[in-house]
Amino acid sequence: MKATYRAMQITTPGMLELVERQTPEPGVGEVLIEVEACGICGADVSDIEGADPSLQPPRVPGHEVVGRIVALGEGVSSIWKLGQRAGVGRFGGYCSDCIQCRQGRFQLCESRPVVGASCDGGYAEMMLARGTGLVSIPDDLGSEEAAPILCAGIATFNALKKSGAEAGDLVAILGIGGLGHMALQYARKMGFKVAAVGRGQNIAEDALKLGAHLYIDTKAEDAPARLKSMGGAQAIVTTVGNAEAVSALMSGLAPRGRLVLLGAGKDPLLVSAGHLVGGERSVLGSITGTPFENERTLDFSVLAGVRPQIETMPLEKAFEAYQRMKSGDVRFRMVLTMKEPADAH
Ligand SMILES: [Zn+2]
Ligand SMILES: [Zn+2]
Repeated sequence: MKATYRAMQITTPGMLELVERQTPEPGVGEVLIEVEACGICGADVSDIEGADPSLQPPRVPGHEVVGRIVALGEGVSSIWKLGQRAGVGRFGGYCSDCIQCRQGRFQLCESRPVVGASCDGGYAEMMLARGTGLVSIPDDLGSEEAAPILCAGIATFNALKKSGAEAGDLVAILGIGGLGHMALQYARKMGFKVAAVGRGQNIAEDALKLGAHLYIDTKAEDAPARLKSMGGAQAIVTTVGNAEAVSALMSGLAPRGRLVLLGAGKDPLLVSAGHLVGGERSVLGSITGTPFENERTLDFSVLAGVRPQIETMPLEKAFEAYQRMKSGDVRFRMVLTMKEPADAH
């Protein structure tokens, strides 16, 4: 094993810098992963822009990580082996002891490490990860295509499963980006009638190719009215944080319909209590899922032929890749790869 490894760390908020770090030994309950790929998620923006400048060493972002286990610490479950391919999503493990864990809701663990925020993530050649956060990667998926499934994939797959919609129901997906492009594919393969809702026409063709039966352009038409003309959406899954856009669509929800929120905006939603009460509608938030659910998401992706559409860039170009993601210039997921640049040898 190499004594040092390359990492992109947040030296000042909003900036990524390439550094060489000492390869660590995994502690109790931890493994060392040699990273092969790491997706760049929208949630990385708050990690990178809001990083604590006093933190030493500075944080390494990235929570869509796939690699190989190259060292096992003491106390790691025997299901994990050296050389095995494993991934880590947004939550890097759980404690097993808190009230949420004791109910099996590991994604709500009160002391969950948030990968890329409270512990180092995968914009690096090596990463320490807790055994409880590991996700097994099926052989049928390459590391680069598996990585985005660990956050964008599970978030949308689980949201659709929690939405209460059944085969044939109208399901609307608001926001056709990294998460939305996975949601459209899963929704189609789950047997829903899929409406993609976005701003402008430039994404329409992609949305239909990804599996939407129809595309609704909020700039050109009254989106809730269109949903209502079809009987209303049984579920609306929103991947955007913009409270105004989410609130505007809510009246398109069918009676007993559920609005499932994935975009974590800070602004309050404008909800008509009468609309909720009168039609027994509900609003719920959904936050990724457990490592087991992540494996189910990967398996379903293999089973149903769902894949993220990715563009790759090498680790050392992470800052450029990140800026492109932020400007919306990626269709649909940017993935960093860790291969050494050819001129380094
Ligand atoms: Zn994410
Ligand atoms: Zn816990």
